[in-house]
Amino acid sequence: MGNKCVDCGLKVSKLLLPIFEFDHIGNDKAFNISKNLHLSNRLVKREVKKCVLRCVECHRFKTFYNGKGGKLEWKNIKNKIRTLLLDRDNKN
Ligand SMILES: [Zn+2]
Repeated sequence: MGNKCVDCGLKVSKLLLPIFEFDHIGNDKAFNISKNLHLSNRLVKREVKKCVLRCVECHRFKTFYNGKGGKLEWKNIKNKIRTLLLDRDNKN
């Protein structure tokens, strides 16, 4: 799985741990991991293997925009929004 966001490359650290999420790839999702941590370690670990690691920002954009243009498109939208936010900061 690696220790960084599969999209932006942000690395997991103690400080940034809360902004990382398990994101299922493929169509064999059995359950949401964070909502089912009461299940046995064996079940949870099996589910984790079906996932990649994404930071919340990439996860949110991917989930919201996926299927509305594909992976490249959601990355472009994310970059455009970042640019708008930075421009707004510079002008105020
Ligand atoms: Zn990311």
